[in-house]
Order: sequence, then C-alpha cells, then structure tokens
Amino acid sequence: RVLSLKDKIVLITGASSGIGKAAAEQFAEIGANLILVARRAERLQELKSNLESAFGVKAHTVALDVQDIQKLERLVPELPPAFQEVAVLVNNAGLALGKAPAQDNDVADISVMLDTNCKAVAVLTKAVAKGMIARNMGHIINISSIAAADHYAGGSIYCGTKAFVTAFTDSLRHDLVGTNIRVTAISPGAVQTEFSNIRFKGNQDAADAVYSGIQPLTAEDIADQIVYAATRPPNVQIADIVSYATYQA
Ligand code: NDP
Repeated sequence: RVLSLKDKIVLITGASSGIGKAAAEQFAEIGANLILVARRAERLQELKSNLESAFGVKAHTVALDVQDIQKLERLVPELPPAFQEVAVLVNNAGLALGKAPAQDNDVADISVMLDTNCKAVAVLTKAVAKGMIARNMGHIINISSIAAADHYAGGSIYCGTKAFVTAFTDSLRHDLVGTNIRVTAISPGAVQTEFSNIRFKGNQDAADAVYSGIQPLTAEDIADQIVYAATRPPNVQIADIVSYATYQA
C-alpha cells in the first residue's frame, strides 16, 4: 500500500455481503473511515461495530435500496459532517437475476438489474463526483465483471448491465481528465459469495454448479484488488483489473 487512506472516507455500496463487506474490512484495516450502504440494516450495524472495535475507525451506516433514486440523491447531502468528504466511492451493489434466454426474460427482473447495476451507479457517481471535483481529489471504483466482455447464453441483461458499467467507467475517466480524481473498473470472474444464491433464487444446486470444477475467487481476493487500486501513488490510475478464477474458462 503506497497512498495512505488513514482517516479518509470510503463509501461502499453493497457493504452487507461478499465483495463490498470484504472491501470494507480491508479499508478499515488500513485506517479508513467508512460509509456502509445496503438494504440489510442489521448486517451493516454489525459490520460497523466489528470494524470500529477491531480497527479503531469510524463507520456510518445508510440502509437504503439503491433503486430508490430520490433516497440515493439525498444520501450525500444527509451524511453527517464528519463523513461528507468522500475520498473513495466503491459502486459495488449489484446482482444477476435468473439465467433465462432473452425471449423469456422476466420483466420485473430486467428492471431490478438495470436500476441496481446501472442507474444507481450513474446517480450516486454524479452525487459524489460533485464534491470530489470541488475538492479536486478522489477515486471512483466501479465493480463491473468479466461478463462485460465475455457474453454467454442466458446473460443478456446481466452482461448488458456490466458492459454499461465498464463503458460508463471509461467515459467517466475521460470526463475527469484534468482533475486529480481517478477512475477504476474492477472486473472479476467467478467469486464465491451470495451472488449465485440470489441469481438462482434459492436453487442451491444451480448456485453451487457455478463453482464446480473451478477454484473460485474469494470476496477477499477482489477486495484486495480494490484496495490495491485505491492505494497506488497519485499519478497511477488503474483503468480495469480483470481476473478469472483458476480453471475458469
Ligand atoms: P453479494 O450478493 O454477496 O453482495 C451484493 C451486495 O449488493 C449486498 O451487500 C447487497 O446488500 C447489495 N445490494 C443488492 N441490491 C441492492 C439494492 N437494491 N440496494 C442496496 N444494496 C443492494 O454479491 P457479490 O459481493 O458477489 O457482488 C458484488 C458486485 O460484484 C456486484 O456488482 C456483482 O455484479 C459483482 N460481481 C460479482 C461476481 C461474482 O461472481 N460473485 C463476479 C463479477 C462481478 P443488501 O441485500 O443488504 O441490500
């Protein structure tokens, strides 16, 4: 770790589970204070207590559904004064729902994926980037996926949303040229988290099959990539970290 994030504010969406939770733990380990966002308030509260007592950092929790654009827009103005100056934003909340052919896609699932994986990223980035531009510092890290470029049958909407995240991230980097704000995409392969359980809606066999025959990535592996990007020297802007699980095709 080169750039110190001690006492800096890191905002993570989807901090209640998987990659977001692991990232919160690793940022806390290097002394960053945290804004933890997700729907499951008790999980956030528990994480906050654990991180505060283990690492002596401060955490603020915001329980909200990122699909609620009004609440998302109010998130930044309503932060307590000590948490206003976000140094690192990690747009991580996201999901896949189902693996149906495009002609059979569930319309409600389409909306949830587009709103969570795309719209929320654009809206929160806008809200946080304003302050970063005013302070001329910051780092926006968006969690994309190998699915942005590796498309597969049954992935029309999820792959489309992650292609959006990668394109949005690169376009944002262009928008912020000339500022000290860095922009990074993280594009993981198969990571063993609650992601598959949610995708297959409780069908445990289908969820487990995703990881059979491969050595899946862990949430900690991806958190390590996020913290790596955030702690490079200020002149280094990591554009995209693409990683596959070993044995993953
Ligand atoms: P998890 O299911 O473990 O975590 C997803 C997180 O997103 C949870 O904290 C969940 O919190 C939050 N979330 C989901 N929907 C909403 C919402 N509407 N409002 C607020 N928070 C929400 O999955 P991962 O950690 O694996 O996924 C994190 C990111 O990584 C996602 O963007 C995913 O697309 C991406 N990714 C995952 C891969 C994998 O194989 N697992 C591979 C490549 C990318 P809560 O339910 O409490 O709201």
